[in-house]
Amino acid sequence: MTVIAHVALDTPLDRLFDYLAPEAGVADIGRRVEVPFGPRTLVGVLVELADHSEVPAAALKPLKHIDRDTPPLPAELLELARFAAGYYHHPLGAVLASLLPPALRRSGRPVRAAEPAAYTLSETGHTEVAVIDARKPAQFALAARFLASSVANPLARADLNDREKTLLRDWLKRGWLQGQAAPALSSSAASSPTPTSDQVTVLDAIRAAGAGFSPWLLHGVTGSGKTEVYLRLVADTLAAGRQALILVPEIHLTPQLTERFLQRFPGHSLIGLHSGLADGERRAGWLAALRGDADIILGTRLAVFTPLPRLGLIVVDEEHDTSYKQMEGMRYSARDVAVWRARQAGVPVVLGSATPALETWKNAKAGRYHLLSLAARAHAQASLPKVRLIDSRNDRPKQGFSRALLSALEATLERGEQSLIFINRRGYAPTLLCNGCGHVFPCSRCSAHLVLHRAGAGNASGYRLVCHHCGLDTRPPEACPDCGSVDLRPAGQGTQRVEETLAEHFPEARILRIDRDSAARKGAFAAMRDRVAAREVDILVGTQIVAKGHDFPHLTLVGVIGADQALVSPDFRASERLFAQLMQVAGRAGRAEHPGEVLIQTRYPGHPLYQSVVRHDYPGFAEAALRERRSADFPPFVAQAVLRAEASTEEAAMRFLLAAREAGMEMNQGVELFDPVPALMLRIAGRHRLQLLLQSATRNRLQAFLGHWLEALAALPARGVKWVLDVDPVDV
Ligand code: ADP
Ligand code: ZN
Ligand code: ZN
Repeated sequence: MTVIAHVALDTPLDRLFDYLAPEAGVADIGRRVEVPFGPRTLVGVLVELADHSEVPAAALKPLKHIDRDTPPLPAELLELARFAAGYYHHPLGAVLASLLPPALRRSGRPVRAAEPAAYTLSETGHTEVAVIDARKPAQFALAARFLASSVANPLARADLNDREKTLLRDWLKRGWLQGQAAPALSSSAASSPTPTSDQVTVLDAIRAAGAGFSPWLLHGVTGSGKTEVYLRLVADTLAAGRQALILVPEIHLTPQLTERFLQRFPGHSLIGLHSGLADGERRAGWLAALRGDADIILGTRLAVFTPLPRLGLIVVDEEHDTSYKQMEGMRYSARDVAVWRARQAGVPVVLGSATPALETWKNAKAGRYHLLSLAARAHAQASLPKVRLIDSRNDRPKQGFSRALLSALEATLERGEQSLIFINRRGYAPTLLCNGCGHVFPCSRCSAHLVLHRAGAGNASGYRLVCHHCGLDTRPPEACPDCGSVDLRPAGQGTQRVEETLAEHFPEARILRIDRDSAARKGAFAAMRDRVAAREVDILVGTQIVAKGHDFPHLTLVGVIGADQALVSPDFRASERLFAQLMQVAGRAGRAEHPGEVLIQTRYPGHPLYQSVVRHDYPGFAEAALRERRSADFPPFVAQAVLRAEASTEEAAMRFLLAAREAGMEMNQGVELFDPVPALMLRIAGRHRLQLLLQSATRNRLQAFLGHWLEALAALPARGVKWVLDVDPVDV
């Protein structure tokens, strides 16, 4: 009998490929294989076996290799990949490839025992490195770092430079070091606080539902003790011999949380999974999960596809966060995939947030998720920060700052406490403006203004004009290209300019700016956070990256500037995001024993959104926002998809979308197809981007339509047009 392997390969073609596999058996389903593909060898996943093929026998080629040294992907994960491929209309081969760590995508050969990701000193090592001579500075410095390391806090290979890696090899040979496999084990247990009565109620409810599938929305303000609830649930999961998957929105959030989990669960192995890891580390962690060796998996959205043979619990922290949505390749929502995975694997899933996504809130209100709330802050003494609106029509900001905000900053400095100025714009100023004729400087390749940045020290030539969309980076001109005036001025505020203004007002204050620019270097963010924690900083200036889940116990004042912009955004989700950001940034103020205050500068103090923030009233905000969405026929009351097309001319993209629309209209299956329109950013990097919105009353109806429609689209002439479908888009 012939045995045919159906192999999923990472090609743009949405089909499986057949190979002769005389030696393959059912135990090989889910294994990586190497196959000939034209002149190349590709790595794929064997997903099915069959006894015949549509391909003529003479054209069938045999598999080159089956990797039997690595466990196969569990059936549950293959099923998950099939679901994602179907729902997001992405080729299964591409889905499977994207869930493998990069190192396992490139080769189907057995994985060598991974080099340890981290090291500590052996017993001999301790004695030997302690006597290294200070006149050998490189060795001396490395010795000091090793002496400060411990099993709970080993030195990662990734943190060593080339010179240090050479020393590492040498010291390994001498037996001075011991390697530590990727899963970190903690040594000392931290005690767990007695749950508050709110937490007990929440835990009882989740436990009473048992080990099977149950979806929960845990709604609670920052500091209300959600993480403590996760920790208790994870403890149950580990006690039952199962694995727990914890998703967090940001790489930067993993170290803090990892630390907390490690301390709570000594003797259990934890791996982190995110795109910031070195290839080897990621592969080692992923394999530990696949082999069932890792008990706790803590990661960003890509971790939702981790193979977990003993999966027992999924937690999605800050479930509303937009970074759960992948914006390229397969445009999946890790939160939605997590819920689907939990259902299929028959395990509980807990979505946690202070400001749930409106989709999630509606699901909870409709009874599809069970809603649980933690009303107060967990620490008995800690109360919610007081939010005050500063009417900037009366108290007009100068250089971004109202008098009320400046005096609050001054008072906070005098008390020796920390402040945060939140402004969601990086750079020096959003635009450079000609004072002669009003000219602003557009990017030549995008439909966007160039942002003025300050590079290095403060001489005039240290300014740059930078495009935040395509990266274009130029020197500002001496004079206006339109009128020749040399009176060019920065207009508006960015983090760099705010930092400068603060330094003028408070020359004594130690100011630290945290944004994507200053935190770009690996490890920079953690170092800055440490400085804040060590009270080496008086005033923080930051974008949303500081707003997310970082605990700054000495921070008692938060000032918000430039928030109004989101109220006038054409994106209907902008106000939802603004509310979430404001609540989140407010949550930075006054944790622990210090009461906090939040000042928001706005021209619209009467706006219902700000009024809800003042009352810390998420449900009030959500009900109002959902009413608006319902009357406007927006999600979550309809299901949407967007067909995005880009081309070097607007006409080409438009032609394609019009043809696509016509094809869809002919099918007419209860799906509304809107007119193709320019994307919010029509042009990025010289490419014109247009989009076609589709909308239907239900997801099922939309899905049924998309399948047929995509087949028709594949047959359309699309010369020079790149197109992609985005199901459940978050930026329309
Ligand atoms: P969240 O995840 O909702 O922001 P956390 O679980 O991090 O909240 O809790 C906030 C703070 O309160 C943390 O410092 C945590 O250690 C503390 N905490 C949480 N639960 C309790 C409890 N039951 N008793 C005492 N302190 C608690
Ligand atoms: Zn001009
Ligand atoms: Zn640009």
